Amino acid sequence: MRVRVDHIDDRDQQVTAGMADVWAVTAASEVLETTLTDLSTILDLRRAHGHVFVTGAVRAAALRTCERCGESTALVVDTDVDLSYVPRGRQISDAPESELKSDQLDVGWYADGHIDLADTLREALALALPPRVVCEDEPACEERTRTLLSGAPESSGHSVFSSLRNWTDT
Ligand SMILES: [Zn+2]
Repeated sequence: MRVRVDHIDDRDQQVTAGMADVWAVTAASEVLETTLTDLSTILDLRRAHGHVFVTGAVRAAALRTCERCGESTALVVDTDVDLSYVPRGRQISDAPESELKSDQLDVGWYADGHIDLADTLREALALALPPRVVCEDEPACEERTRTLLSGAPESSGHSVFSSLRNWTDT
């Protein structure tokens, strides 16, 4: 979803996207690494002093496999979007020191007079992605993991479980 920067002005311009919007679904599934079960995105675009500001919220959900117990679990990434862009080639360091605020470290670039909202969506989701996908119900996950570890037959040659057991015993 490419938007021409010179079509963005200082009034908020809203772009919404959901499961029917292929560009958004494609971008979000790349980050969540599987087929989405739900997606809703609201992005407000504003341009001021050559900066493009994108604020809003995104919520994406997908079914993933728990990295601890192996059960299927819902991964929900629900995050605010607060990103800004300057034209590629403009050095942020050219700005006087006093104008550099810490939140501008997250400034991105746009090229050819366009910003690609698929990139924005990918970036917002990637920033909010948990480092490890595990069950939301932690006690139940713990229980399943314990059962898996204790139930794995010694002689099965199931290297994953036996190595896990070795690891937890030490
Ligand atoms: Zn789990």
